[in-house]
Amino acid sequence: MTLTESLAALSSGQTTPTALVEELLSQIESQNETIGALISYDKERALAEAAKADTSLPLGGVPIVLKDNINALDDPCTCASKFLENTYRSPYDATVTRKLREAGAILLGRANMDEFAMGSSTENSALMKTVNPHDHSRIPGGSSGGSAAAVASGMAIAALGSDTGGSIRQPAAHCGIVGMKPSYGRVSRYGVVAFASSLDQVGPLANNVEDVARVLQVIAGHDPLDSTSLDAPVPDFLATLNDGVKGLRIGLPKQYFAHGLRPEMESLIRAAAARLEKQGASLVEVDLPSTEAAVATYYILAPAEASSNLSRFDGIRYGHRSSEAEDIIDTYKKSREEGFGPEVKRRILLGTYVLSSGYYDAYYSRAQKVRTLIQREFAAAFEQADVLLTPTSPRPARKIGACEEDPLDDYLADIFTISANLAGLPGISIPCGKVDSGDGAKLPVGVQILAPHLRDDLVLQVAKAAELTNE
Ligand code: GLN
Repeated sequence: MTLTESLAALSSGQTTPTALVEELLSQIESQNETIGALISYDKERALAEAAKADTSLPLGGVPIVLKDNINALDDPCTCASKFLENTYRSPYDATVTRKLREAGAILLGRANMDEFAMGSSTENSALMKTVNPHDHSRIPGGSSGGSAAAVASGMAIAALGSDTGGSIRQPAAHCGIVGMKPSYGRVSRYGVVAFASSLDQVGPLANNVEDVARVLQVIAGHDPLDSTSLDAPVPDFLATLNDGVKGLRIGLPKQYFAHGLRPEMESLIRAAAARLEKQGASLVEVDLPSTEAAVATYYILAPAEASSNLSRFDGIRYGHRSSEAEDIIDTYKKSREEGFGPEVKRRILLGTYVLSSGYYDAYYSRAQKVRTLIQREFAAAFEQADVLLTPTSPRPARKIGACEEDPLDDYLADIFTISANLAGLPGISIPCGKVDSGDGAKLPVGVQILAPHLRDDLVLQVAKAAELTNE
């Protein structure tokens, strides 16, 4: 059942929160071992919360899964890292967690992810493996791969993820569901473990656009506890959801139909655009020339911020502490050496390097300038188009293990999602068809809609129209 259908069934008394939770728990019990979507779940608590759920609330009685980098009081919050496994329990609720609870949602469990959200495959989880529900030999995408796989395999009605460079949209595309990265500043990150603070946003993954709109409505809004959260009114997303695309200009950035985009995927994306044109939108080609610099820019700025954010994991305040250490410096060194996985170490090294004296101007400050260029080019594109339509990823879900030797290949595949983070724009990925895997499976393809900053409403409206024409 979709979230919207569940709410209807709950309010009409056709089902109860307890029945819903029991159904999902039985799905988790039969599927999680194979799919590996959830790191942990609390059966008794979910049932206890269901027993007292108030179905008159906006998400009353709806079971939701959190990515394991979002704090929820007394829950583990491992970030899929050995550093926090078994040693950390959340002392408080993240603001998004609190808002979900206040809206009546039931916290069902915690989803697997790439360690500290670094990756695009969920293979960087130090705790468990997640497979794509459409083909178990393939990745679910990442870093919110557990959240996407949980929704796609019916273990959750909706999930929260975080998106620093595509980590909600890309796994949603790979798993055939809807995932949205809201505008920077739209959703509070208080209580969400920071990766790259100038890029991170929290957002929903669910079965359809309306479901995503309903969850975003609940979690969006200003939060004095997050100084980057914007004090701007949150529109009623459902009010404009069905307004259609008549008269809207949809921009197709020419650089987004290159970069190794699979031809059979390109035809699905162009077909989605053509269907919107039939509904009265006009299609225009737009130019985003700095797109080719986006990956390099992101892989300087994100590691730089990560190297600073992750300095808090020192073995002193919380998390893993080495039992081998001889003094305080040794404690820092050994705890970090033992606690972090290879990708996290790679990012910390890269980030520390680009920030170090002598290299700062060559890398970090140049990357900041390119970031400004990318923002300006988007602003110019939005003079010609109301929204942009692009592929979410150049390829469908790849085989597990295919990038073990060469992380760069995965970095390059982030090309269509990271610019939205660099520019702070809202973006969504919705399914637009399937391609043959070549070995018998059908793999979902996602189309991405981007809009100007704070036009999350427009993203949802266009996505809804595109979704309707999908059937
Ligand atoms: N794949 C990107 C990275 O590895 C984005 C991750 C994310 O959005 N959290 O950094």
